[in-house]
Amino acid sequence: MEVTLAEFFMVILGACFLGAGISGFIDRRRDRVRANAIKRSTVRCRVCGCAYEAPDRRVARACPQCGRENFRGRDRRLG
Ligand SMILES: [Zn+2]
Repeated sequence: MEVTLAEFFMVILGACFLGAGISGFIDRRRDRVRANAIKRSTVRCRVCGCAYEAPDRRVARACPQCGRENFRGRDRRLG
């Protein structure tokens, strides 16, 4: 089987585009996973708006600026 020079370069070019596509997909996926991990471990204070880290989901941590305890996620309490 003979391969012409044009076919050879087409294969190389295709491999480069495929590699770039796969690399971009992996990078976007990694960024999304990291952003979700940061979003999961960050709490925004409902009083002063300060964002701070709270790694444990069950325990409400007090805001470092105003001292109010903030729960992660939607607040379903009344009042
Ligand atoms: Zn606060």
